[in-house]
Amino acid sequence: MARILPLPLMATLLFCGCARLSTQAGGPLAPEARLKAEADGIREDLEAFRERKFRELPRIVQLPASAKCSVWDSAAQIGWVARKGLEPSSSVDAIFQATGLIRPGGNASHQRERMDCVVVKAMFQSRSRRIVVFDDSTVDRRQSLAHEMVHALQSEKLNLDTMLRSRSEPDAFLGKLGALEGEADFVADRVVGAASSPGCVDPSASILWTLDRSIHAVPQLAETPPIVGLPVYSPNVLGQRLACLLYARWGAAGLDTLLNRPPRGSFQLIHPTEYLKDVHEVDWDTAWSGIGQLPAGWLPAGQMRIGEVRLAALPLTWDRNLAADALRGEGLGWRGDRIWMARDREGRAAYVWRMSFSNPEKATEFGRLWWRILSIRRDRNLPAFEKRRRRSMWFEPGRGTHLVCAKGSDVLVSEGFDSLFAIKIQKSAFPRPR
Ligand SMILES: [Zn+2]
Repeated sequence: MARILPLPLMATLLFCGCARLSTQAGGPLAPEARLKAEADGIREDLEAFRERKFRELPRIVQLPASAKCSVWDSAAQIGWVARKGLEPSSSVDAIFQATGLIRPGGNASHQRERMDCVVVKAMFQSRSRRIVVFDDSTVDRRQSLAHEMVHALQSEKLNLDTMLRSRSEPDAFLGKLGALEGEADFVADRVVGAASSPGCVDPSASILWTLDRSIHAVPQLAETPPIVGLPVYSPNVLGQRLACLLYARWGAAGLDTLLNRPPRGSFQLIHPTEYLKDVHEVDWDTAWSGIGQLPAGWLPAGQMRIGEVRLAALPLTWDRNLAADALRGEGLGWRGDRIWMARDREGRAAYVWRMSFSNPEKATEFGRLWWRILSIRRDRNLPAFEKRRRRSMWFEPGRGTHLVCAKGSDVLVSEGFDSLFAIKIQKSAFPRPR
């Protein structure tokens, strides 16, 4: 099946209009009693499906929908609100801005927080073992409740706080979140019999392009930058697909495998085959020394892996036609990347970005794509990418040198340094894969 993520799926994830508020027949019940009866019914089905019993059912409370944002914020102070970990530092925002992963002036942390208020439907707080649902007629409460109850069941086997805090990379965090959210969405759909459950869909790479399109089709999210929307939704959507595939093969034991061995990052989340074979992404020494000595006046300012999901934001942010070409079919062919950021005394940013792709053709394609995006970012007609030499370079007064070059299946991008340093790293500092 080639079709992935039809719109109804996203609608269910966000604001299901088909409010199945109660399946309890009979006379009117007080709201608390109705909630408890609903939870009891879900518990039975959930325990049967997961072949495991709750040691203790979490406390469930219902709050007014108008309190969503404030409850979400205060919950983050006292318990597990997993998505709060998505963009953990301002240095990450600085990297997104310098590379064009977000438009100038964009702030991923801030925009994600705004988005959270829109999309939150319910939450599970692991420390207080409390589920909060909201009195919101636009949300399928039974499905939200089931989703949070799966998290509660997960928390009896795993320490969710520890699992999510012991991350080394924002991209690795997406893998862990993918296991937790994916299982929760998949099991909740099965337990409540959601009609829109997508099943085990085709693991096509164009899933990121389709996911972005689905997010932007929701009016409240139309302005959400891809660097924010994709990481928020990919753990649920891609994780659910992975959970579905593992369940189809091994039943409940497959879901246990997913939780005990979460994807290493977004690459394994997108490519179930690579997850099953535990294929690792290409990586390099994280120290600046692997790149070469910084020019005088420059200091290291952080490094990270962008990862396959976030890299898709680059074409999606600047040109959706270019993105459609780049992300459909096999997609970018990402196999690894690491970016090193530096700042000078005036606070100007510069970076070196190493990337690896599935083959030399994909590397050249990315080089050309990056160069075209640069000309859009700078609003300049730059000479075409030098396809034969597989490189292009442009010195921009006040902004330093922009360089992209491909070598084998690898690509090196650098922006902001002087030409001398750019040429030096191009010639000598393709650091060895570790
Ligand atoms: Zn969840």
